[in-house]
Amino acid sequence: MNNAGGMNENSRKIWRVLKTEPENYDTTSLYLEGNDERFKKRRAGQWVSIRILRDDGWSEPHQFTISCAPEDEILRLTIKKAGEFTSSIPELKRGTEVKCEGPFGVFCRDIDTKEEITMIAGGVGITPFLSVLRHFRNIGATNRVALFWTNKTIDDVFAADELKEITKELKLRVVHTLSREKEVDKYLQPDFPEVLYVPGYATRQVLQRHLDFPRTSFYLCGPPKMQDFVLGELEACGLDPESVEKENFS
Ligand SMILES: Cc1cc2nc3c(=O)[nH]c(=O)nc-3n(C[C@H](O)[C@H](O)[C@H](O)COP(=O)(O)OP(=O)(O)OC[C@H]3O[C@@H](n4cnc5c(N)ncnc54)[C@H](O)[C@@H]3O)c2cc1C
Repeated sequence: MNNAGGMNENSRKIWRVLKTEPENYDTTSLYLEGNDERFKKRRAGQWVSIRILRDDGWSEPHQFTISCAPEDEILRLTIKKAGEFTSSIPELKRGTEVKCEGPFGVFCRDIDTKEEITMIAGGVGITPFLSVLRHFRNIGATNRVALFWTNKTIDDVFAADELKEITKELKLRVVHTLSREKEVDKYLQPDFPEVLYVPGYATRQVLQRHLDFPRTSFYLCGPPKMQDFVLGELEACGLDPESVEKENFS
């Protein structure tokens, strides 16, 4: 249908690359600017399906969680190199057209209403939780949050300084579990007592040390193997794995 003077459905879906910013050696944030009303009503934890305009036409669609707060006018996607599409993200030029479908997904839908929250992330599975925490910071949320984030090494961790700062503003504890590091105490900083480092994985012992199991609501996002491991550990602590809200990136 013609929509003289206004934006038609298709042009509303077109966003443009504002910038790309490296988060670490293999992860990049892609910032998009656009004007699609539907994204103004998004919630933290939702995702978008994007196609990028290339010389030979629109790419295949790929899905990414929106990692910025839902209050932000731009869209920020934080993308780890996996294959061809994701490897091309750091090279994108300002102004490149990106078709955005969404927002989709229900992960973390009711998280604002939970007084005690446990987020467990593996690698780039942190993105929905970054969105929630950026949202919580914006609204001055009083929910108690424990975030367990597993990475291989300290070089895989990103947004670390921002997370540190958020521990000062919210009731947040961040436990970095580093699966391929043994000496982790060197990362501790007295100014940030709520940021902890543990060698290995988010085991039952690590979880039990920091959590009050009957009260907290669990959210899990990470690779399938990591999710299976964590669910096994939670079950060993007496938790019903079905009660854990999960997001799968595949
Ligand atoms: C809801 C949702 C949210 C997501 N959010 C994020 C996010 O916030 N950040 C993020 O970085 N990613 C996210 N993802 C994942 C992201 O969509 C994919 O990593 C991306 O689309 C992969 O595209 P690619 O072409 O670069 O890689 P692909 O070529 O698709 O490859 C991806 C991985 O699969 C492997 N692979 C490919 N083909 C095969 C095969 N035949 N057999 C075995 N292995 C194979 C590759 O080696 C690579 O490791 C999300 C996915 C979903 C569904």
